[in-house]
Amino acid sequence: MTFQHRFAFPLVRGLHARPAAALRERAHLFRADCLLFNEKTGRSSDLRDLLSLIATNTGYGDPCRLAVQGQDAGSALEALSTFLEGAFLESDEEPAAPSSGGIGTVIPQLLQKASVLWWTGQGLSPGAGEGLAVLASGLALPAEEPRLRHTPADLEIKTFAAALAQVEGELLTESTHAEHPTLRAILEAHRGMLQDRAWRGSVAQGIQEQSLTARSAILEAGRAWAKTLEASDQALLRERAADVRGLSARLVRALGGPGPEAPLQTPEEPYVLVARDLPLNQFPRLDRTHLKGMVLTECGPTSHIAILARTFGIPLVAGIHGLPPALAPGARLLVDGAQGIVIEAATPEVGRYFSVESEGQKIHQERLKRHATQPAATRDGHPVAILANLSLAEEASGAFALGAEGVGLFRTEMLFLERAVPPSEDEQFELYRAVLQAAGDRPITLRLLDSGGDKPLPYLRLPLESNPFLGQRAVRWYAQHSDIIRTQIRAALRASAQGGHLRMMVPMVSEASELAWVRQLLEEEARQLQVPAPPLGAMIEVPAAALSLGALAQHADFFCVGSNDLVQYLFAADRNLPAVARPEFAWHPVTLRLLDGIVRAARAAQRPVSICGEMAARPELLPLLVGLGFDALSVAPSAILDLKHAVGTLEASACEDLAMQALACARAQDVEALFRPSSARQPTRPVVEAELLELDVPCLTKEEAIKRLAERAFLSGRTRAPRVLEEAIWSRERVFATGVGYGFAVPHCQTNAMECATLAMLRLVEPVAWGASDEPPVRTVLLLALPGEDVGEAHLRLFARLARRLMDESFREHLENTPDPQTLLETLRSEVLTIW
Ligand code: PEP
Ligand code: MG
Repeated sequence: MTFQHRFAFPLVRGLHARPAAALRERAHLFRADCLLFNEKTGRSSDLRDLLSLIATNTGYGDPCRLAVQGQDAGSALEALSTFLEGAFLESDEEPAAPSSGGIGTVIPQLLQKASVLWWTGQGLSPGAGEGLAVLASGLALPAEEPRLRHTPADLEIKTFAAALAQVEGELLTESTHAEHPTLRAILEAHRGMLQDRAWRGSVAQGIQEQSLTARSAILEAGRAWAKTLEASDQALLRERAADVRGLSARLVRALGGPGPEAPLQTPEEPYVLVARDLPLNQFPRLDRTHLKGMVLTECGPTSHIAILARTFGIPLVAGIHGLPPALAPGARLLVDGAQGIVIEAATPEVGRYFSVESEGQKIHQERLKRHATQPAATRDGHPVAILANLSLAEEASGAFALGAEGVGLFRTEMLFLERAVPPSEDEQFELYRAVLQAAGDRPITLRLLDSGGDKPLPYLRLPLESNPFLGQRAVRWYAQHSDIIRTQIRAALRASAQGGHLRMMVPMVSEASELAWVRQLLEEEARQLQVPAPPLGAMIEVPAAALSLGALAQHADFFCVGSNDLVQYLFAADRNLPAVARPEFAWHPVTLRLLDGIVRAARAAQRPVSICGEMAARPELLPLLVGLGFDALSVAPSAILDLKHAVGTLEASACEDLAMQALACARAQDVEALFRPSSARQPTRPVVEAELLELDVPCLTKEEAIKRLAERAFLSGRTRAPRVLEEAIWSRERVFATGVGYGFAVPHCQTNAMECATLAMLRLVEPVAWGASDEPPVRTVLLLALPGEDVGEAHLRLFARLARRLMDESFREHLENTPDPQTLLETLRSEVLTIW
């Protein structure tokens, strides 16, 4: 007898993976056959087949029927219908989002009133980029022709069964070890999908009826199922297509053979990648020519994907929860990686607004390049070498063109990822030789293979670990796979025998014996090749190493602080998790004290010490790192120009004082207060200069005009934080619009973001509305910006005086029509003398 229960589907987000898994779990408590019929879509599925359940494409309110038949059908139906009306409703709840998104984000005024959708997160790689959204669900399986088997069907079925068992076993181990309940639920849902009888049946059918190999049958079935799911009108169900592809890829990998994970299918036009996370090995295979930005939910500031994004100048925003499901496929996205903002379908006004900033950055970089060839030194002549962090050999010449004085960290892992066997000695030799040759006599610090953590190498066949960052990472597995490290060392020694200045360093060192082991290996190989052994250094990234530099110095010729890991291990905060990896850990007094101890111990042992983690690239931390006494900073190539310039503005003795003050602080906020530029930093600069005047500028909005003025102030070196200046201007404009009539406006502010008093002017081609409805639109904008806290209202007095002067018609006429910038400059200079 069949028992039936009719109901309208109750979950707003449809029958997606989690509720389907919950239904499946219930059904497993009974022997009866439990079927779900969706009468709207005409699809049905056994409750025990997760994927088929999802593929019923059931949405909110769909008329559904539960049909239960068999031994314990009566009690099964009763339990299932009670469940559907009760606990089932909770299976749709959204997991809580971490609270860290949006740290320090300044939302541009334009966005606050524009009718576009936007989200904020954490900006992890600066720059603005625009393109079509490519969702991770666009992951494709390898495009290859199905292959016919030459083996009996039974054998292929057995192969498939073995792959299934292996992947199921891996998923079970992963979910048992997963700490986060959401992750555990996802892994369990994946395991459930893998057990789907209909999916398994389609693979078996491919093998038996279409005579396919197990690999081809898996790929074909995966493609077909993914296509069905993609056709769903429910966003959450469409996303499951990516899971099917991922699982199919995993099964194929379990079979052995090439191409386990397929590259993303990306358009032949600018695109923005949107994903929960991006496995590191996917990055090298992305089409980077058209990649204009990335939006990743799970990505910390020092994660390797963030590092690569900065290396390649790809704007990256992290920590936006709910974005992928909210997006329509093919949406146009604009990513602002500096502020952590993502905008959908930006209007021309919004697009222009962001391009003002990109243009400003370009001009700024071009200017800095002119001095790039000089070695970096403080104003009082204290040298601080600025070196490059490289991930790929091809980056070397670009880094030197930007003024890198050497390579402080060559992350060699990228060469080892994404392949079935390690690169050969000859292949490595060619790459290392290319970098050494590009460097000339500049030093190249080659870091020995740092795999493990978030960079697993499948061919090392290390056991699955629940905490990979605390497991067999880097030097910890070297002895077990000495052939791999020996080959790398030999390749590097042979390359350096052909010229160049090679150094090698060992990652993840925690005690002296590890270093002694590598040194012995290095010396053996050098003897065999009859070449001198290059200097060998230790990375200081584990607190135990940081506290035992004296002992390490017996085997190390130099030290290099890997602050990304050092901070991670010091605060026990996973560098990939924005929820715990807080940016301020980098300047927390505890970190600074540890760094101070490292530099002092290195000095005592007469060993040079550099720092190569991401904190070395933050301009606001530069005075501290110089003050602490680091000999060199190694940073992403994109940060070199700014940093070299910034070193030249510092006074070594003042940096030492600052470091002393920071070391005495109790909290990160107290250290942060020391970063603020002092109001009297550039007391001698004139208030107005030629580059502060811009004439005949096309502008669409008031917001764009204000942004241009802030960019002018930035380009002339009067502020390092144009967005903060902009916001300070807007905090006045929001109270009252500063239009003074006759087509003139005088925005004004006083802010710590300014380094000196400034008068700037913009004359527009077409006037723009400024706010007050009874005033004519504005064509001439004069900005008054003063440094310091906005307490004394000095800028208000200046504003009043300038506004009064603008009552004079001939003065206005002069400002509006004088074609010659020099004459204008002289007028404004004499004006400053009277109103200031
Ligand atoms: C570090 O840990 O700071 C470092 C530079 O190494 P990686 O980021 O590659 O782990
Ligand atoms: Mg490291």
